[in-house]
Amino acid sequence: MSKKSTRTKKPQSRIPNPQSRGAKPQSPTPKPRSQRSKLPKYVYFFGDGKADGDRTMRDQLGGKGAGLAEMTNAGLPVPPGFTMSTAVCNIYYERKGKLPASLDDEITANLRKLEKSAEARLGDPTNPLLVSVRSGAKFSMPGMMDTILNLGLNDRTVQALKRRTSNGRFAFDSCRRFVQMFGNVVLDIPKEAFEHEFERVKNKRSAKSDTDLDEDGLRDVVRRYKALVQERTGRPFPQDPMTQLSMARDAVFRSWNNPRAREYRRIYDIPDHIGTAVNVQMMVFGNTGSRSATGVGFTRNPATGANEFYGEFLVNAQGEDVVAGIRTPQPIRELKAVMPKAYRQLRAITTRLERHYKDVQDFEFTIEDDRLFMLQTRSGKRTGYAAVVIATDLVAEKLVTPKEALLLVDPEALTQLLAPGFDPAEWRKVPVLAKGLPASPGAACGQVVFTADDAVQWTNQGKPVILVRKETVPDDIHGMHVAQGILTATGGMTSHAAVVGRQMGKPSIVGAGSLQVDEKSRTLSVDGRVIKEGDYLSFDGLSGEVKLARVASKPSEILQVVNGELAPKRSDIYQRVERLLKWADKHRRLGIRANADLPDQAELAYKFGARGIGLCRTEHMFFGADRLPIVQRMILADNAADRRKAVTELLPMQRSDFYGVFKAMHGSPVTIRTIDPPLHEFLPKREELMVEIAKLEVTNGDQNLLDQKRKLLNRVEQLHEFNPMLGHRGVRLGITFPEITEMQTRAIIEAACQVAKEGQKVVPEIMIPLVGHVKEFRDQKEIVDRVAADTMKAQGVRVPYLVGTMIEVPRGALAAGDIAREAEFFSFGTNDLTQMTFGFSRDDIGKFLRAYQEKKILERDPFASLDTEGVGDLVRIAVERGRRTRPDLKLGVCGEHSGDPASIHFFDKVGLDYVSASPYRVPVARLAAAQAALSVRVGD
Ligand code: PEP
Ligand code: MG
Repeated sequence: MSKKSTRTKKPQSRIPNPQSRGAKPQSPTPKPRSQRSKLPKYVYFFGDGKADGDRTMRDQLGGKGAGLAEMTNAGLPVPPGFTMSTAVCNIYYERKGKLPASLDDEITANLRKLEKSAEARLGDPTNPLLVSVRSGAKFSMPGMMDTILNLGLNDRTVQALKRRTSNGRFAFDSCRRFVQMFGNVVLDIPKEAFEHEFERVKNKRSAKSDTDLDEDGLRDVVRRYKALVQERTGRPFPQDPMTQLSMARDAVFRSWNNPRAREYRRIYDIPDHIGTAVNVQMMVFGNTGSRSATGVGFTRNPATGANEFYGEFLVNAQGEDVVAGIRTPQPIRELKAVMPKAYRQLRAITTRLERHYKDVQDFEFTIEDDRLFMLQTRSGKRTGYAAVVIATDLVAEKLVTPKEALLLVDPEALTQLLAPGFDPAEWRKVPVLAKGLPASPGAACGQVVFTADDAVQWTNQGKPVILVRKETVPDDIHGMHVAQGILTATGGMTSHAAVVGRQMGKPSIVGAGSLQVDEKSRTLSVDGRVIKEGDYLSFDGLSGEVKLARVASKPSEILQVVNGELAPKRSDIYQRVERLLKWADKHRRLGIRANADLPDQAELAYKFGARGIGLCRTEHMFFGADRLPIVQRMILADNAADRRKAVTELLPMQRSDFYGVFKAMHGSPVTIRTIDPPLHEFLPKREELMVEIAKLEVTNGDQNLLDQKRKLLNRVEQLHEFNPMLGHRGVRLGITFPEITEMQTRAIIEAACQVAKEGQKVVPEIMIPLVGHVKEFRDQKEIVDRVAADTMKAQGVRVPYLVGTMIEVPRGALAAGDIAREAEFFSFGTNDLTQMTFGFSRDDIGKFLRAYQEKKILERDPFASLDTEGVGDLVRIAVERGRRTRPDLKLGVCGEHSGDPASIHFFDKVGLDYVSASPYRVPVARLAAAQAALSVRVGD
């Protein structure tokens, strides 16, 4: 490779002409092509208008690498570079840091290509190439992993950079940033140690801000930084750029597994095995002076979805300054006045990118001496609110079809739209304490805490918290996750707090400049007012207003419409959600039902779009204050006659609830389950009773009461079970107390007859829980059929009804072929099926789940997201065996997994007829079912 020693050009001239799409001649490579082609490809080049990869290769190149490749292919001004694939990261871990020799060859070959394209060489004493080394996984993990800028600088190249740019200050500023980043990320020296040295130089030279330090001052900083490295590591700062490069690469791979990245993946269900890619790219500088800048932006507002060019920039700064939230940047519209040409070009490019990707883009750019470079483009993270607005707008603008729009919204986003907001009247009453940038909408109210650890601790004590920080850092992720809202004093709309807050759907305000946050003394002062840890704050993430008060909140706009308090035409967001869900209904295959126990829940579920009840837990009807004493009498009865008497008293109550639920469903099917939980759930706790008895005995209390309590205790002790979840519950209750099944059947059929007499269609489905053996089912079915026939005869009406079972005991799944001979439908109770398949008690898993997840034994909580391999296999087996016996067997699921998008995809694939989710998750289920039918997982 020829060395260019007479270079006089400014850094920007190293950039190839972005419009020239023809590939330049390739650099010589260390091995002949024929030999290399046999080896797996780990490194992908991009530059000179052509890239080895493209947008479809996110698995291999990560989101950033795929975006850079795609933009390069599109002829956009992208600094050249190469991407080491995610496979390398996995090899790094598998081989404990040892990478294959062929990788070194590939890196060298691609580096040569990059040097050719950049017309500069790494480590060259006169014309050095500087590169950035950045992480980039398939799924964006903002700020969680590490980045190193200005790599390639050493004692000699810093001088060359100074000569070439005629800017010594710039050269040494770049160098001190590099040593600091490298020292921290690669050599594990705490940031504070560097900051301490920096402050010392600033004090010595009476510099107020970083920019007050001149070349000499920065030279001093670099000298001290290097001494710090020597002292902490026992070795000098590495001067050889190739050593720097391999150390930086390994550090990026290591950062895949740092605690915050792991926590982030846990929260967002990102698999651990996918690894990160590493992007090595020619540096361009936004910090060469007042004609340079760096910024980030979105093609639309990611908080509200409004169609406006949105973002911010900093003049004379380097990339990380914007996202780090250290300086508050300027809004992007001001770039128009400062650098009009670059602004126009940026608008044109980003509009093109949005059309190309058919989605909102989140981009990063740098302007070096008036020249624009694109550093990243990817699908922009947005709030749930914005997601719906953007998807519906893009359809209206004919940029995407309704079917494509369905894939632009993460189903989970819809739950954000159901969260409460402040009651405007209450909110107006309190004066504004401070204003900041409205980074993520929503009402937040809680007690002030100043650290992420405190946020977690207070939350665990049941206190709602607002996490207040000067600026958040990726290490705060756990605190942000639990807080009601996030409030920062510095940083812009794309600072860490803003990006992560939005993604979490967490109300967030950033850059509230009047806040003086003192994290040490745990106080916050605003215009002389001091707010202490534990004080209540409320804020509105849509307006950016912060108030010193505890303000009551109001249901979401959508809920207000659903509850009839707001006319649909007065709520833009309601109409948009409706539109989106109607498109979803056209594409989904799965039916959507709801789990609802009472008429008002059924009504709500119907309004959210459920067409059927998949599970009515009748025992929940027993909990009313007027009913519990009767239920207790039923349980306390020591003979069938007394029990029958109590049961008969319950009948009219159950009947009227069933009637209400049938009416609310307007003729859609309603699955009602006979009693399920162990009976002692309806009785007072054993320990409490013992205390009450002891008190009565000591105080010589009322003898009658004492006798009653003793009798109750006696029965409670008889009913006490060591493992009630596996005990006397479900079908076992119906078998031992047939009068309960009789009463429930009568109540159901009488209610149905009444509805039928009123001329409304009604489809009751009576469901027997916890069946593992066909004979259990047969026993109950006989009772149901007999009582149903008698009741209909007495009522003089016939209603069609079905008798089916839950499949929630592993034996039930295996014996599904037999059971289907008798049962007309199955509903998978995946809560119990998970419990019994794993042998994990539903009530106790909390004690060890975290350890299981930390050790990667389980990636997800199997009670929240179906274990498709184990529990899922039982579902698959039961579907197959059941349908073989009875081809028209109706199949549904009513465990909690019915509202989980990943599980819904599985249920769609195994061919169930419907999912039955809790009412508030019905919109999520509708959208997820459509995405499942279109075979696309959104939210990945
Ligand atoms: C189930 O087990 O999945 C189910 C829906 O029933 P429950 O949660 O009431 O046991
Ligand atoms: Mg169950």
